[in-house]
Amino acid sequence: MSNKVNFGDELVSPEEKTRRVGAVFSSVARRYDMMNDLMSGGMHRLWKDRFVARVKPRPAEHILDMAGGTGDVAFRMARRGALVTVSDINADMLGVGQERAEQRSLTGLSWKVQNAEKLSFTDRSFDAYTIVFGIRNVTDIPAALREAHRVLKRGGRFYCMEFSSSDWPGFSTLYEAFASNVIPKIGRAVADDEASYRYLVESIRRFPRPDAFKAMVGEAGFVRASAEPMLGGLVTIHSGWKI
Ligand code: SAM
Repeated sequence: MSNKVNFGDELVSPEEKTRRVGAVFSSVARRYDMMNDLMSGGMHRLWKDRFVARVKPRPAEHILDMAGGTGDVAFRMARRGALVTVSDINADMLGVGQERAEQRSLTGLSWKVQNAEKLSFTDRSFDAYTIVFGIRNVTDIPAALREAHRVLKRGGRFYCMEFSSSDWPGFSTLYEAFASNVIPKIGRAVADDEASYRYLVESIRRFPRPDAFKAMVGEAGFVRASAEPMLGGLVTIHSGWKI
């Protein structure tokens, strides 16, 4: 029993969680971008703009966008001249991303299927590592953070944006009601897939609170780990440096 992990509200083996998360994202890949707009009322675009403004990508620097999915964050960084490796465990999500990049004639992007827990990149390969709405889906989060630290150069920057449960009174109740009742229904109506969207909501609820996650970033070897809450703590940008 002891090595069971949560998949939403269920306890499963680590291998089963990775397999099921893979099935969720293969199932949602084609409608992922439209669903993001519907579920967040378009807000995810502003959060990603704010995130990239925080990363400050520089021309020709090498950035690993981990769990990069369909490329939303990577596109914003490539437009600023960074050379971005978009990596994700799910080839279906990356496939949709590659099509979108071609439609937009974007350059400076390369695509690689990778598990965040065990990267094939050599030590000190990247200037920055980004992971947006991805780490809560990873089965072994401390392993992913250690790998992030390993592949960064000295002075490299780590940035993660993730949902958290909001502490704002009133807003948190409203958000809970929206997340539990409305998001899975949108998933059913638009993508005929209520279960995947229920998982997405439950995975947000289970993700460590910002202070606990900040401590995990520090334990992986990053210095000056910080957590900047936005929108009543609903979304938090975490950062850290490798020295
Ligand atoms: N970063 C993109 C964005 O913000 O639009 C995609 C976020 S999507 C909610 C989460 C992504 O995490 C999925 O594409 C999923 O395949 C990926 N993922 C889940 N587990 C992973 C792992 N162990 N390694 C790499 N990617 C993983």
